[in-house]
Amino acid sequence: MTLYVLWRNAKSLVSPSKFSRRITSSRSIVSSKNLCSEVRVRFAPSPTGFLHLGGLRTALYNYLFAKSRKGKFILRIEDTDQTRLVPEAAEKLEAVLNWAKIVPDESPFVGGSYGPYVQSQRYEIYGDHIKKLLHNGAAYKCYCSETRLDLLRKDLQRRGETVKYDNRCRNLSAAKIEKFERQGVPFCIRLKLEDITEPFEDLVFGSILNNIAEIEGDPVLVKTDGFPTYHFANVVDDHLMGITHVLRGIEWQVSTPKHLLLYKAFGWDPPNFAHLPLITNSDGTKLSKRQGDLHVESLKAKGFSSTAVINFVTNIGGGFENREHNAIYSIDELIEKFHLERINTNSCKLEIEKLSQFNQLHIQQYLKSPSDAALLITELRELLKQSFQDNSCAGTLQETALSDERLFKILSWSKDRIFRLSDLVTPEFSYIWAIPQDLSFQQLPSMSAAPADVLHTVIENVAAIPESNFDKENVSKSVKEVGKKFGLKTPVVMTLVRRAVSGLKQGPPVGEMLVILGKETSLQRLKHAQLLL
Ligand code: GLU
Repeated sequence: MTLYVLWRNAKSLVSPSKFSRRITSSRSIVSSKNLCSEVRVRFAPSPTGFLHLGGLRTALYNYLFAKSRKGKFILRIEDTDQTRLVPEAAEKLEAVLNWAKIVPDESPFVGGSYGPYVQSQRYEIYGDHIKKLLHNGAAYKCYCSETRLDLLRKDLQRRGETVKYDNRCRNLSAAKIEKFERQGVPFCIRLKLEDITEPFEDLVFGSILNNIAEIEGDPVLVKTDGFPTYHFANVVDDHLMGITHVLRGIEWQVSTPKHLLLYKAFGWDPPNFAHLPLITNSDGTKLSKRQGDLHVESLKAKGFSSTAVINFVTNIGGGFENREHNAIYSIDELIEKFHLERINTNSCKLEIEKLSQFNQLHIQQYLKSPSDAALLITELRELLKQSFQDNSCAGTLQETALSDERLFKILSWSKDRIFRLSDLVTPEFSYIWAIPQDLSFQQLPSMSAAPADVLHTVIENVAAIPESNFDKENVSKSVKEVGKKFGLKTPVVMTLVRRAVSGLKQGPPVGEMLVILGKETSLQRLKHAQLLL
C-alpha cells in the first residue's frame, strides 16, 4: 500500500456531514474577489471509466453557470492516479460532453492558452511548485516508511483513536534529514496543516467551518513515487488556469479547507467554492458509479436524447428560476433560468422513470418546429435502416415507408405512445415498416363466415374510400359495414383486419392502423393476407 492510499483511506473514514459545520445560511455569490474578472470554471474528472450522472450534473452546472455569466467552461483531465486510468476514457468523456451539448471552451481536444489540460502532461509545473512550498517552509519531506505508517495506523485503531499521521517528520533535526538524504531514504512531501478557526463561504451551503487538523495528519502533496496527489495538482491547476469558481460535488467539501490552506501557503487568492448536493437513487441509496444504467454513454446508446438527459439531471436539486417540472428546456433556456443561489442544499433523488417522460416531452416538443422535426425524422430513418440491416427488426424494410412526409405522420401519430424513437423499432410497431413475418391466423375468433370472404369485402370497401377521405372514421365505418353484411360483431372483423395488416393480436384501433399504413400499403397487406387464408 502506498502512502497516498493509506492516508486517502484514513480520510475516507470521515464523512463531510460529520465534520463540516454549516455556520450560517447566508449565501452570496458576489464575493469581493474576482468581482471584475471573467468567470472561468472547470470540470475536472478523472478518466476512470464512463461518465456517470453525478459527473454529468457537475459538468452541466459548471457550464450553465459559466454561460449565464458569459464566462468560460474548461475541461481538465485529472489523471495523476495512474493506477486507475482506463484507456481512452478521457477521449470518450469529452465526446460524451459534446453529445450533451456541454461544449468546453478549453480542453485537451480544443486546446487553449492555459494548457496542457491533462495533468499527466503538467508534472514539471507541479515539480516547480512543490519546490516553492519546501522553500517557504509550508511543506516538508516525510521519510516515514510504509511499515511505520502501517504500525501507526494499527496502533491508533487498537486504541480507538482517530487514524491520522502523527506529523513526526515535521520536526526532524537537520542532522536526521541530512542522514536520510545521504542514505537515499524514499520520501513523500506533506503540507503542514494549520488549525482552521475561520469558516469559508460555500456559495451553496453558506459558511462552513471544518478544522481538518483535528481529524487528519499532514496531507501528502507529492507521493513517494514523485507523482502529485489530487489535492496538490488540483489547486495548482485551478490557480494557473485562472479558475474563479469551483463547483463540484458535496463529497469534496471536506477537502476545501485543505485546498484553502494550500492557496494560503502559496500566497494566492483562492477561487469561490460551491458544492452541489448529493444525488441518490430514488430509494435514498448512494448513486453508484457501477450501475451501468446511470452512465451517460449507456443512456445515449439506449436512445435517450441529450435534451432529455440534461433535463432529467437538472430537474432535481434546484438552481433555476420559473422552471416547470413537466416541461422540457433547451440548454440555452436552462442557461437563462440558472441561478447558483437557487441550488438546494438537501440531497436529491433521481427517479429514473422521469427520464422516459422527459424523452417523450422532447419528441413532442421537437415535432412542433419544422427544423427540429427534420432532426427527428433523420434520426428515425437512420435507426430504421440500422435495425433492419442488423436484423433487430425482422422483414424487409420498404424504402417507400421512409419519406419525410410519412415519417412525420408516424411520429405525430405515435408521439403520445412512445418514449424513445427506438420504441418504433420494437415488435409492437414493426408492422409499420415491413410486412409482418408472423401472419398466422390461428386462434382467430370463430366466425360464421369464411375469413377470406370477409377480407375480400373489406378490401372492396377500403378500396372504395377516396384517398382524400382516407381517415380513421371512414376506414372504421367501412370495416364495420362488412361486419353488418356478414352478420358479424364489429370486434370480430376488427381482429381479423388487425391481424391481416399487422400480425398483432392487440394494438391500436384498426382505423388508425390503416391510416398510418396509408391506403395503398393497407390494400397490399390485406390482399397478401387474403392469399394466406
Ligand atoms: N478529479 C476530481 C474528481 O474526479 C475533481 C474534484 C474537483 O472538482 O475538485 O471528481
